[in-house]
Amino acid sequence: MRFTRLGDTRVAHEMPLREYSCVPGAAGCAYCRQGFEQLEAPVAAPLSACPRCGAPVERRLSAPAVPPSRGALSDRAQRAGFHQLKRVDRGTYEKQF
Ligand SMILES: [Zn+2]
Repeated sequence: MRFTRLGDTRVAHEMPLREYSCVPGAAGCAYCRQGFEQLEAPVAAPLSACPRCGAPVERRLSAPAVPPSRGALSDRAQRAGFHQLKRVDRGTYEKQF
């Protein structure tokens, strides 16, 4: 049995995938016009030119991270030892956990 997947996951975590595409108006090539992904160390300076044609490229921001849901927040509160009360009626609260 091999454990290469575990290694891959660790590397992927340390080397985030960055998305680039040529800047608007730049000639570019098919590669950078459609955008490409590049594995880079977090400390690496962002790429400024297409590795294939040398056209100026800019980083594309990935989709914004989804904010934690209320459910996740409750989970964290529960793990931290807090209790949550749910209001079921006027002046009546039900202990959720
Ligand atoms: Zn290019």
